[in-house]
Parts: sequence; C-alpha cells; structure tokens
Amino acid sequence: MQKKVNRIAVLTSGGDSPGMNAAVRAVVRTGLFYGLEVFGIMRGYQGLIEDDIFKMESRSVANIIQRGGTILKTARCKEFYTPEGRKKAYEVLKRRGIDGLVIIGGDGSFKGAMALSKEYDIPCIGLAGTIDKDIAGTDFTIGFDTAVNTAIEAIDKIRDTADAHDRLFIVEVMGRDAGYIALHSGIATGAENILIPERKTNINAIIDSLVEKERRRKLVNIIVVAEGDEIGGANEVARLVKERMPNIDARVCILGHIQRGGSPTGIDRLIASRMGYHAVECLIEGRHNVFVGIQNNRMNYIPLDSVGKKKGTISEEWMKIVKILAS
Ligand code: ADP
Repeated sequence: MQKKVNRIAVLTSGGDSPGMNAAVRAVVRTGLFYGLEVFGIMRGYQGLIEDDIFKMESRSVANIIQRGGTILKTARCKEFYTPEGRKKAYEVLKRRGIDGLVIIGGDGSFKGAMALSKEYDIPCIGLAGTIDKDIAGTDFTIGFDTAVNTAIEAIDKIRDTADAHDRLFIVEVMGRDAGYIALHSGIATGAENILIPERKTNINAIIDSLVEKERRRKLVNIIVVAEGDEIGGANEVARLVKERMPNIDARVCILGHIQRGGSPTGIDRLIASRMGYHAVECLIEGRHNVFVGIQNNRMNYIPLDSVGKKKGTISEEWMKIVKILAS
C-alpha cells in the first residue's frame, strides 16, 4: 500500500533562476492546503547535510512571487556527490521525519535527487529551474522567459548605440550547452547572426557577409553569441572578425549575470506556480522520483533517472527564420 506523505521539504539548488521563489511559494501553499507540514531547506544540498532547515508557514512565502533569486538561497555541494554526503542528508531527513522532497534546480540537482532516492526511501520531485532551458522533456523551465526578456531589453539598448555609431556589436548571452537564450533573444531583437552550440558556426561565411554588407554601407550589425558556441564566445568572434577586417568598428558586450536576476515574467511566475502545485500532488499521489515538466500545455512527468540535457533539438526551420528575417 502507498505510504502517506506527512512532512515535505523544499530546496533550491545549483544555478539560480528567476521564478524559483514563485515555485517555493506554490510548493509551500499547496502542501499546507493538503494538511502537510512543510519545511524549507537553506542552500540546497549543503543546507540539507548541515540540517539548516526551518518550518514554513503560509506567510513565510508572502510577497515573494515577484522577487528574483531564491529566499532559500542556493549552493553547489561537493559532499552530496559522495555516498557519505547523501547518507548524512538522509539521516537529517529521517530525524526530522521528512518523507518527501521537492528539488528546484537544473539537471545536476536532479541527478543528486536521483542518487538520494535510489539509495534511500525518500520520494523526490524535481522542478526545472534553469535559465538555459537545457533539460529534455519540457517546453518551459523556470527562469528561461525572464532571462530571454532581460537579454532582449539589453540588446535593444545596444542596437540604439550601435545605430548611432554605425557599429558592429557582438553580444554574448548565457547558454553553455544550449543556445535557446541566444536564439530567442536574437530573433526577437532582429540580430543579423546568431551563434549557438547546437549548430556548427561557419565564421568565414559570417565575415564574408560582413565584408559584403560593408560594401553596401550596412554597418550596423548585431551578432548574438551563446557563451557555449564552439568558436569560443564574443571576444573570440571579435578577434576573428578584426583579423580580416582591421578597420571595422566592432564592440563586444557580455551580458553575464544580469540574465539570472530580476523580477520573473508573467510566464515564469505562472509555470513556477503550476509546477509547484503539481510537485505536491505528485508526492501525495505516489508519483515519485519524477520531475515536473510542461509539454504542449500539459503536465509531463519525467522519471528522474532519464533526465538528460536537451541537445541539438533546434530545427533547421528556426535557423531559416533567422536567416530570412535578418537579410
Ligand atoms: P544545476 O542543478 O544547476 O545543474 P549543478 O550541476 O551544480 O547545478 O548541481 C547542483 C548540485 O547537485 C551539485 O552541487 C551537487 O551537490 C548535486 N549533484 C549534481 N550532480 C550530482 C550527481 N551526479 N550525484 C550527486 N549529486 C549531484
């Protein structure tokens, strides 16, 4: 017979993303609605091992839905990679009588949750909190939409100054393994080129087109580069361009961590709220050791042991759109 869940805990782990607070809020309030006791774990798996845990009430999550970052803080925890570290974590959970865990984080955090749930009888539910949208099985991850909108706002501003000076700007956005932030923000800002890890970059063809554009005096160009593109980021692209076009007025702008912060967009608040609610339902219904995704606007429950990086899924059509619209 299915074991009843009474006490659950929630943590945020790995890279932070805007909307994590909205997800924490949804988990806490749904848990309380169903009569569960809910605990917050500070600093991810590190706080779990150190028993940095507190009881949460409805008002613990008041006024946080609009805030970036995470009230529970996040961390990377070396000890959790080891069986000894996970044993300590289990002992803390056991001592506190916690019988269900919600993990908000990226694929690394999900691997940690899987390892814990395989070794011990602790049901774990993951919520995909990552700005990169690099997890297979979900159309949305918490924070992606906000990061894209932050990049769009920044690139729009860069285009104003690029236009004033007739300059080439090479803008680097986040995305080590996945080019979605680059692709979405690049299309939405009319970038002339978008360089992403999923596609082989033909830098010579790009420089050829810049030379040709210079000939017809089209001097304002924006190239958006994902940090993980195989060419090696915006500085390297600029170096290669200048090698062949020494007189070009080219500038580099690396957007960096501003993409992780800020108030979450409506979409991120909404998906975080839906996912948080369903995470608690999963624990109650006995649908354990899955992460909650959304596909075609339906909840999708993916077993944690099949979590994988979303790779190479950007279709030719998207790239065709980039090319046609930027010509
Ligand atoms: P993200 O969750 O954003 O992908 P990380 O990859 O840094 O970030 O993972 C967050 C934390 O999850 C790690 O610091 C570690 O504590 C835990 N973790 C990641 N991978 C594993 C693994 N294979 N086994 C156990 N714990 C892991």
